[in-house]
Amino acid sequence: MINFQYTRANDVADAVRQIAGNPNAKFVAGGTNLIDLMKMDVERPNKVIDITRLPLKQVENTPGGGLRIGALVRNTDVAYHPLVEERYPVLASAVMAGASHQLRNMASTGGNLLQRTRCHYFYDIGTPCNKREPGSGCSAIDGHNRMHAILGASDGCIAVHPSDMCVALALLEATVHVSSASGDRVIAFSEFHRLPGDTPQRDTNLNAGEIITAVELPPKGFAKNYTYLKIRDRLSYAFALVSVAVGLELDGDTIKEGRFALGGVAHKPWRDPQAEAELRGQPANAATFARAADVLLHDAKGYAHNTFKIDLARRCTVRALTQAARGTPQSQSAKKIV
Ligand SMILES: Cc1cc2nc3c(=O)[nH]c(=O)nc-3n(C[C@H](O)[C@H](O)[C@H](O)COP(=O)(O)OP(=O)(O)OC[C@H]3O[C@@H](n4cnc5c(N)ncnc54)[C@H](O)[C@@H]3O)c2cc1C
Ligand code: SF4
Repeated sequence: MINFQYTRANDVADAVRQIAGNPNAKFVAGGTNLIDLMKMDVERPNKVIDITRLPLKQVENTPGGGLRIGALVRNTDVAYHPLVEERYPVLASAVMAGASHQLRNMASTGGNLLQRTRCHYFYDIGTPCNKREPGSGCSAIDGHNRMHAILGASDGCIAVHPSDMCVALALLEATVHVSSASGDRVIAFSEFHRLPGDTPQRDTNLNAGEIITAVELPPKGFAKNYTYLKIRDRLSYAFALVSVAVGLELDGDTIKEGRFALGGVAHKPWRDPQAEAELRGQPANAATFARAADVLLHDAKGYAHNTFKIDLARRCTVRALTQAARGTPQSQSAKKIV
């Protein structure tokens, strides 16, 4: 373990003051990702700023009819919050599909957005990895790439973003509220995570010195016709091979609005406006869903060990859309076992 300075922040202003001008400092919230990365020598901060005492633990209604979730609300508390369960059940389902109860009890909303990829080469400091060490190469492209991207990858990196919660937040078109020494700003969820391009070391558009203070959900929650479907190598405690969040607004059997977002397939939660356009005004049936899935996967590209994901993503998309249309979501937040 490396030597580092440990400090506590008292409020948001104190936190941003403590991190300003130090690109090697890191905030720590639940610590479920950062501490593992430090133990494995992947992250080497010279200063760790504990933000767990900041007053960012509220879930509140917004004047516009949405919901504001503080950055330090634990994943468990998001999933079991009555307003989330009632108005945004796709978010509750997605959170409950991630990690384990113990981890969700520790993990924070802000930390979930900023968790790093699970590409095993990223964690293995004995191998080249452009995300960990820019310019060193990508071991996954010609290596073991079963879990890797089929959409939006680059020659520099084919990693995927591992979060379940973020797939639902992309679907719901959340916004991310951030603060820094130079003020506050709001980032659309679609702009928060990045594709790897030639800068895979940057996962997000969060700037150095910025802290996430909250995630805000707009009023539309698709509480009636939704689903979160996650396919993984075992039934729990595993990252997604493919996951799909769906929200439909139906008028009888006709789709007024249809959205879907995929996890486990790209460097960010994946939405495709053209594929969603295939749903609008169409009957909610298998042919419509198959057309949308075909558009979504038109440009998908597999590597030696993950080509199966293209067909898996297609079938998952059709199944998730079908479940949502029938009002029979795959997974609901399980009853309290905390
Ligand atoms: C064994 C295991 C299995 C898992 N399985 C899943 C899974 O199936 N699905 C899933 O979605 N996740 C899974 N996770 C990941 C887990 O959800 C994340 O580790 C967790 O959400 C991170 O939150 P945290 O509060 O612990 O973050 P931390 O580890 O404290 O921080 C993570 C990063 O975020 C930064 N950070 C934290 N809060 C803020 C803030 N407010 N502002 C700015 N920066 C901040 C930190 O500096 C750090 O870089 C798993 C984790 C483990 C260990
Ligand atoms: S896929 Fe990305 S994270 Fe994995 S080895 Fe390649 S550069 Fe590193």
